[in-house]
Amino acid sequence: MEAEMLGKLIDQVSGAIRDNADDLTKLDQAIGDGDHGLNMKRGFDAVTEAREEIIGLAPAAALQKIGMTLVMKVGGASGPLYGSLFLGMSKVMTEPPRTAGAAADLLGAGIDAVMSRGKSTTGEKTMLDVLVPVRQALAEASGLETKDALEKLRAVARDSAEATIPMQATKGRASFLGERSIGHMDPGARSSALMVTAVCDALEGEGAR
Ligand code: ADP
Ligand code: MG
Repeated sequence: MEAEMLGKLIDQVSGAIRDNADDLTKLDQAIGDGDHGLNMKRGFDAVTEAREEIIGLAPAAALQKIGMTLVMKVGGASGPLYGSLFLGMSKVMTEPPRTAGAAADLLGAGIDAVMSRGKSTTGEKTMLDVLVPVRQALAEASGLETKDALEKLRAVARDSAEATIPMQATKGRASFLGERSIGHMDPGARSSALMVTAVCDALEGEGAR
């Protein structure tokens, strides 16, 4: 059952990245070098290729394998950062989170790893501007029904990605543009929102609390 859920999560996230790779590329063409869609697709195609192996692993080892695959295959700035997200989570993973609070703690460990790897924080127009608000929403979701919590998380992910549009980038390639980075959604914020939405879609109807 656990392996089945993990397989579903991998399929949903990989599918969302594949379906939106062109969109990610367009966003990165505006304020970067236009490789984010291809980078992410290459990474999640490799995760999909390793799917059967991953779902046979214990939860911590599965997250570690996903993280290492992303580090090796995504490339760019986002490869090591998304790799760190999963490796950071793998370090604290004992059993799959059964509550929103436990999921918030798990994501928090991943975010800490991204921040330390990227020397970055919120407000810099990066993936963190989605991941941090999502973690916050998870921490506040304990009183909600599952369906409402998932709906809320999807809305927070979407709105936080939108909220990067007026920001000026101070980290990553987009920061080279200075004020000209304003007025475009950050590609990494968008890919993070896609991943969060995909996880929510996979959990919908799975009896997650
Ligand atoms: P590259 O910028 O090397 O071409 P990608 O295009 O794959 O790599 O990824 C760019 C994304 O990485 C940005 O949109 C941003 O969200 C994220 N990013 C870049 N630098 C950092 C950082 N220091 N901390 C967090 N996220 C970052
Ligand atoms: Mg790029």
